[in-house]
Amino acid sequence: MTPMNQINDPFMTELLRASDLLREAASWTLFTHQKPDGDAMGSVTALFEAGVLAGKRVTWAGPDSELPAAYRFLAHMDDYRVCEGPFPFDRPEELYVFLDCANGSRGGEGFEARLPGLRVLNVDHHEDNTRFGTVNCVDPTSSSTSELVFRILRAGGWGLSRALAESVYVGIWTDSGGFAFSCTTPRTHRLAAELLELGVEPGRLNDLLNQIYTPGGMSLRSRALSHIRVFGPGDAFAISWLSLRDFDETGALSGDTEGLSGAAMQIRGVRLAVFLTERKGGKVKASFRSREGVFPAADLARRLGGGGHPRAAGATLTGTLEEYLKKIPELLEARYAEWAAAH
Ligand code: 5GP
Ligand code: MN
Repeated sequence: MTPMNQINDPFMTELLRASDLLREAASWTLFTHQKPDGDAMGSVTALFEAGVLAGKRVTWAGPDSELPAAYRFLAHMDDYRVCEGPFPFDRPEELYVFLDCANGSRGGEGFEARLPGLRVLNVDHHEDNTRFGTVNCVDPTSSSTSELVFRILRAGGWGLSRALAESVYVGIWTDSGGFAFSCTTPRTHRLAAELLELGVEPGRLNDLLNQIYTPGGMSLRSRALSHIRVFGPGDAFAISWLSLRDFDETGALSGDTEGLSGAAMQIRGVRLAVFLTERKGGKVKASFRSREGVFPAADLARRLGGGGHPRAAGATLTGTLEEYLKKIPELLEARYAEWAAAH
């Protein structure tokens, strides 16, 4: 039986175009963004499983030296290959699939410039996606890239499995904040029902997904919380940070920052939260979260050379933590004055 929401999917043409491209290629290489989150992990492992079920040769590669341990219960985690040095984009018959990447270079430094002439499928839900693929299946109304992958697979009648459903569920769960954020739609819930029918046990996955911290990661969390400073008009802004020293002293891993970006949003009255993480090599990762009553987080991220979703965005900055702890609050106040004048 064809489910109603499959027939009614307004994105059907794009879903089928993506499905056809996947079908035509015998060999796929999958990429997702660096420092993958649950949606990145979910969408890649789900598509990997679909490829294996359909007898495709599937590769998953990326520059990250390790994957977040919190997702080790997903299928195909051992199939990941770290690419040392520049990735060899040298197979004209290969289909290169990018998942949850707003641009090609989210997959690896300098990737986008090397894609012209190759067969590239771009599956993403970021509004600011640069449409860098041969086929672009980009739907910002999708809660997550994982939801979109599942819609492609169902539209094309691909084989599904419980492992695949678990991956999709994990991706949706992460990007929708456990079916709570505004990106959660009736379609999201309908698809989730299908995932449960395929064998997903929500209680078990919820428990696994909540075991995200190492002991050092929990100490790191307490440091991030203790660094929160609330400021601005009506105390609507919050900023927090972690230095390389915080990681060293707690023994936390870079994946232990998961879930910290939005922690200050739990303070009543806060409308926009900034979270800065010092990285090796003179870089700072900035995360932005916002709610109504202020300009979108993505607005700020874009001004700093990054991007993302309206209410959850980020940027990778060059410079010192000290510099940005001063500069970003100034930028925020200036942008707010501009925004408030117009509203
Ligand atoms: P997070 O703050 O959780 O790392 O990221 C939130 C959102 O912002 C994600 O959807 C992610 O794709 C986007 N984002 C995070 N970092 C960057 C970045 O360095 N560049 C761009 N373009 N987007 C980012
Ligand atoms: Mn996503």
